[in-house]
Amino acid sequence: LWITVEGIGGSGKSTQVRKLFKWAQSAGIDAVCTREPGGTKAGEQLRSLLKSVWTPKLDPLTEVLLFEADRRETYTKIIRPITGQGHLAISDRGIDGTIAYQGFGKSVDVGLIHQLTRLVTEETVPDLTFLIDIDPTVARQRITSRTQDEIDQFDREAIDFQELVRQGFLHEARLNPGRVTVIDGSNDPNEIHNLIVHIVEERLGR
Ligand code: C5P
Repeated sequence: LWITVEGIGGSGKSTQVRKLFKWAQSAGIDAVCTREPGGTKAGEQLRSLLKSVWTPKLDPLTEVLLFEADRRETYTKIIRPITGQGHLAISDRGIDGTIAYQGFGKSVDVGLIHQLTRLVTEETVPDLTFLIDIDPTVARQRITSRTQDEIDQFDREAIDFQELVRQGFLHEARLNPGRVTVIDGSNDPNEIHNLIVHIVEERLGR
């Protein structure tokens, strides 16, 4: 089973990824946790490249190509082998983020992104996606306890941009109702976790 957790920065998605991974371990489910960008050796370098060159900004299509290169590494080195063995792969971010950030947020052709994604994942899509949806102004308030780097990064991307990205995520969710569950990110993190576990258990037939 391949699970992705999506949302804008400050939505609480990484917290949910950690909780879900811990739950899987304590339930005796073989699971691997990864993230996009990152996750593999080359992927972590792509991640720091994507982070370090945000000023001056990369061309949006260059960003897409780098995210897709990272995704190819994650897919071939982690997702394909893990799910092939019948184990659980949990990913912090995935295919919807590229549509939301680079497609909706930065006007790269969405059809092209889909085409590239299908190529790198060999037409495979996550079995379950949890979109932690949150108002960007609420997300901004939440990240005040994070590192200055993360706060600066959020602020470089204005609230208007975050709202566009949010709408991109919601659009993808509407197009894929069987795969994507939209969760209200303003709810209690433990409540959100319980809901996610419930859906995963159902899917695993437990
Ligand atoms: O996953 P994390 O929240 O650490 O991602 C950090 C940042 O990566 C996001 O806030 C966003 O600025 C950027 N990002 C992006 N395009 C994506 C995914 C993430 O610009 N497709």
